[in-house]
Amino acid sequence: MRNDGLVVVNNDVCSFIKRELGIFVDGAWQSAHSPRRLDIFDPASGERISSVPDADVSDVDRAVRSARAAFDARVWSGLRPSERERILLRLADLLEAHGEDLAQMETLNQGQSINVARAVGVGATIEYVRYMAGWATKITGETLDVSIPFPPGTKYTAFTRKEPIGVVAGIVPWNFPLMIAVWKLVPALAAGCTVVIKPSAETPLTALRLAELALEAGVPPGVFNVITGGPECGAALAAHPGVSKISFTGSTPTGKLVGAAAVNNMTRFSLELGGKNPAVMLADIDVDQAVQGAIMGGFFNQGQVCAGASRIYVHRSRYRQVADGLADIANAMKLGPGLDPSAQINALVSARHRDRVEDHIARAHAEGLRFLAGGTPVMSRGYYVRPTVLADVPPDASIVRDEVFGPVLAVIPFDDPAEAIRLANDSPYGLAASLWSNDLTAVMNLIPRLEAGTVWVNCHVPLDPGMPFGGYKQSGIGREFGKYAIEGFTETKSVCIAH
Ligand code: NAD
Repeated sequence: MRNDGLVVVNNDVCSFIKRELGIFVDGAWQSAHSPRRLDIFDPASGERISSVPDADVSDVDRAVRSARAAFDARVWSGLRPSERERILLRLADLLEAHGEDLAQMETLNQGQSINVARAVGVGATIEYVRYMAGWATKITGETLDVSIPFPPGTKYTAFTRKEPIGVVAGIVPWNFPLMIAVWKLVPALAAGCTVVIKPSAETPLTALRLAELALEAGVPPGVFNVITGGPECGAALAAHPGVSKISFTGSTPTGKLVGAAAVNNMTRFSLELGGKNPAVMLADIDVDQAVQGAIMGGFFNQGQVCAGASRIYVHRSRYRQVADGLADIANAMKLGPGLDPSAQINALVSARHRDRVEDHIARAHAEGLRFLAGGTPVMSRGYYVRPTVLADVPPDASIVRDEVFGPVLAVIPFDDPAEAIRLANDSPYGLAASLWSNDLTAVMNLIPRLEAGTVWVNCHVPLDPGMPFGGYKQSGIGREFGKYAIEGFTETKSVCIAH
């Protein structure tokens, strides 16, 4: 710990980010064909800390060819499932052994609190790897009792095989760079696929380090490749005919482009997209618990959480208490760099994103909305936004309609649960929602009526590797986690034997 309370960055982290980083293809660092480079910044200070290649179409082609060659040679899918499982468990051990370095790198690059990077960005990621490693030995087809009547006297035995889908392209956003890369990589590897990951242009560092650790764990060359770049690189990957499946996490507009590119080649795809997630608080809530839950759901990772709470609907009888409780906490939160473990709100990922969030706040001012907390800019070279609470927000205000992806909560009163459900569902998004109440009958009645891929009760935001995750409506197509992740990285082959 330094005198100013900041975590001291380890030497291995400094030397990694100072290297002339390339792309990781065919089990080795390679220079990109593209001469362009992307500068990488520390969001807490705005300082440039590293750079990576801005890979072009030919670099993408090289990475996909490497993954295709490894897939066709069956260097990975040809291993016994237990060998794949063991290698993935070794990867988890290596992530654990290098956990502090990875957490520091994530904080330096993404801006998130070192506490969050340690516990979630790295800690939950390791749990996820171990969970998914176990799937390698549990992928099964079915035997089918068929009734084919011809030719008379012939008997049939039919069964299904789950086969690896092929080359997987994982396109990843910047909010949890290592974790979301792993959400794609590890189930794809468990299923026997080969993989190309493209991290976000803003946050590529931990995915590159992951590639080194996977090689060390025993993942053969070519099975896991990482290319760095922005939209051009992502578009080239999505459109590449050598890709069998695209697993995309990012914004809804980009997801639509990815889906369109995929359909052109009949590439399979799944989309984990944006959210504008409601928390619905009924009249019987424990106010303190609900306020703490909304703070956690809304301000965790500076609100840069796809499933985070941003619309807080509160029964009118509790509305004032909740709004004031949220404002008191938000106004007292300590802003500071992610490397300061005592800071409660850290910098957003980039200057561009900070400006985007400030634009939303400016529009809320222009619409005459009432700020209980935040609403004024932070004068700093880092990319900070104050935790913001808006009260009495009308349902058609842009802050209620648009995904802000920042630390901004809109608090809205309702008079009866049916109205709350109508307001909660009045969104093009449907990723997640939470219900706050101890009235079991009310909760059980409302759960089926919420249009959301996940409904939490008396909590907002916990995820588990075994719990399917994905969106209704414009929040996505498909599910990740649990058996759904494996399902998404396999093809089903029917086999019918006449005898
Ligand atoms: P984004 O859509 O801008 O970018 C996501 C990724 O797509 C990046 O790697 C980017 O380089 C790449 N990309 C950009 N243009 C592309 C194109 N034309 N073709 C292919 N790839 C392209 O999203 P972002 O700003 O990085 O992340 C924030 C968004 O991600 C938010 O909307 C958030 O809700 C969403 N998100 C969703 C989930 C989920 O699981 N549902 C999780 C995290 C983030």
